[in-house]
Amino acid sequence: MPWNRPLIIGILVVLLAISWWRLQSDDQELRRSQLLMGTVVEIVAGGESSDKLEAAVDAAFAEMTRLDQLLSRHHQKSDVSRLSQSDTGTEVSVETAEVIALGLNVAQRSGGAFDLTLGQLKALWGFDQESPTVPGQTALSAALDGIGPAALSLQGQEVNKRSSLLQVDLGGIGKGYAVDRAIAVLKEHGVTSAAVNAGGDMYLLGPHAELAGRAERPWRIGIQHPRHQETLLETVQVSNRAVVTSGDYERVFEEDGVRYHHIFDPKSGLPARGCQSVTIIADSVALADALATAAFVLGPATGLQLLTQYPEAEGLVVAADGTLHSSPGWARYRVAP
Ligand code: AMP
Ligand code: MG
Repeated sequence: MPWNRPLIIGILVVLLAISWWRLQSDDQELRRSQLLMGTVVEIVAGGESSDKLEAAVDAAFAEMTRLDQLLSRHHQKSDVSRLSQSDTGTEVSVETAEVIALGLNVAQRSGGAFDLTLGQLKALWGFDQESPTVPGQTALSAALDGIGPAALSLQGQEVNKRSSLLQVDLGGIGKGYAVDRAIAVLKEHGVTSAAVNAGGDMYLLGPHAELAGRAERPWRIGIQHPRHQETLLETVQVSNRAVVTSGDYERVFEEDGVRYHHIFDPKSGLPARGCQSVTIIADSVALADALATAAFVLGPATGLQLLTQYPEAEGLVVAADGTLHSSPGWARYRVAP
């Protein structure tokens, strides 16, 4: 059979076009991690060309770094440090004001279980240091003196504090806010599928596009068992949602056979004892972050009660005795085992 040159050239052109299109559409995921905000932050992005993904992920990490420099107690010139050093308060950035406004809202609705004024207490326990220790009662009482949601107020970007000694700690909400901002930056760069995880504070954007061009599906997230690291408690399926877990296994030490962890009951200054872990699914990571910490302090019953004030939030609680409790809408995210 004679060669049909126009047909062969046509086929070659089509094949070339397909491989060029596959290169451009690049159905790979880009996965990067960085040490930030005292934890490992991982970003997975897909559904775009690799050049665009690189630029988007770089910009998202840069935004999180910028926020860390505003929100962390460890940066001398952060808004939080300036606020803690001031006698009566100071003006802060729009971003810090936004975090404080949301934190005060959760503080008020949780009856003070969530508390942005635990800076002195946090420093006293020393969870950020090599060897944390259990403080004595006198030191605990001093760190709790004059704290509480009423000790901090916000007007626009002006934060006022009731006592000069009061130290602000945004550790229970700041990481979540930074993840929200990272997602906003990824979206500005045209990314439609991504997962950002800052040590258990996650947002899952769009469908999971690992299989771009083939069937897309929601993200599947395994929720870790608080006592058996290798075991999953449950798997949930989400798109465009925050999934945040607060657990008593994240930062922990043992003294005289007792476990001490980093989520404090502001009433006693001691680690809260009602839960092993709380997972919240919500629209924003900042809200889910604050609610996870708040519900952890309140314990299973009151914690789930708090969620009824936030219709967009659902929660799964592992109580101190290991029993599972969830809000009524949780089931819609659960993947059958
Ligand atoms: P998370 O891992 O989001 O539950 O946050 C724990 C961090 O939140 C701690 O390391 C403290 O910085 C801060 N924190 C601890 N207890 C509370 C509380 N009762 N309210 C608000 N923040 C807290
Ligand atoms: Mg939190």
